[in-house]
Amino acid sequence: MHYLDHAATTPVPEEVARAMLAVLTERFGNPSAQYALGREAKALVDQSRSTLAGSLGARPEQVVFTSCGTEGDNWAIRAALCQNRRVGKHIVTTAVEHSAVLQCVKQLEREGYAVSYVKPDREGRITARSVLEAVREDTALVSVMLVNNETGAVFPVPEIAAGLKNRPALLHTDAVQGFLKIPFTVKSLGADYVTLSAHKIGGPKGIGALYIGGRAKNTLPLLYGGGQENGLRPGTEATAQMAGFARAVELRLERQEEIAAHLAACRDYARERLSAIPELRFVGPADAPHILSVSLPGYPSQNIVNDLDGRGICISAGSACHRGRASHVLTAMGLDKRTAAGTVRVSFGPETSFGDIDALADALLEHKNTRFPML
Ligand code: PLP
Repeated sequence: MHYLDHAATTPVPEEVARAMLAVLTERFGNPSAQYALGREAKALVDQSRSTLAGSLGARPEQVVFTSCGTEGDNWAIRAALCQNRRVGKHIVTTAVEHSAVLQCVKQLEREGYAVSYVKPDREGRITARSVLEAVREDTALVSVMLVNNETGAVFPVPEIAAGLKNRPALLHTDAVQGFLKIPFTVKSLGADYVTLSAHKIGGPKGIGALYIGGRAKNTLPLLYGGGQENGLRPGTEATAQMAGFARAVELRLERQEEIAAHLAACRDYARERLSAIPELRFVGPADAPHILSVSLPGYPSQNIVNDLDGRGICISAGSACHRGRASHVLTAMGLDKRTAAGTVRVSFGPETSFGDIDALADALLEHKNTRFPML
């Protein structure tokens, strides 16, 4: 199999699986329990949090575990609006956010909030200026992702943070695709809330984290229950997932530079191989090293994905998160219909080999040569 969909999810390395197995079978205590097994589990939660906080340059008490990136996004948005309820009911975001942000703010529109959606340019880039120009006196929240999951565009979060310094609006960034792919700390980003997810970096599914710092305070919980996560996120801690998340972070950090160089080499090699395919177009800037979006104009992306699947190659039609529907990202970029309809996303991980990319290039060329454009 040639797995080229690391932006959708990643394989869990054996070291991570082993760390999780030990927690599931031996160190399985409830962290709230009052005996040694419970205390051991509590220590494991604290240790996992410290590892994660360290990787962000944050303090452990600023990092709260969630069930996924989607939860982190929803929580940060609601918490910021609650904190800034006296500022107003206006939100600034971009038209190309992940659905975890877009669907949340759509719901908030139904609840009476006004939302400004900043559009990208044709390359898929967003300028800090266009975001800051949309900010009003009554803007309570600005939510701008760090790396776009479809195009790999990196957005200027630090510049936006600097522009918001003397304004009441809080800043949230969805850093799910940026975490450990492009270097940052919470200080360098300057955001008040930062969303992360484990399964994009070799961790398990079902665990994420939210950094709550900067000017964020009095955080509104999404759930009500026990006192876990400092009362902010009740529910018995997912100790195995936390340990797996932390181990995945450690493994990526140990090889951070090597992995970054490998991802960039994969992207550059793929660019070189794919540019030999007649009519193939590169879509978006691919600033981040692990995402490359390409189009065979007129060839429906779902057919490309199905054809390649038959050859053991996994890629994605746009984003894995909205299968079958026209991508809101490509639409916002103003791509013509044929190019948008033929766009697929290829994404790399530490396990990707040049052989995977050769297989992809051969399969795309054959698809183009043996099928007819339908649009
Ligand atoms: N944000 C971005 C940019 C993503 O790419 C994803 C997942 O694809 C998410 C949020 C949602 O993360 P999760 O799958 O952990 O809910």
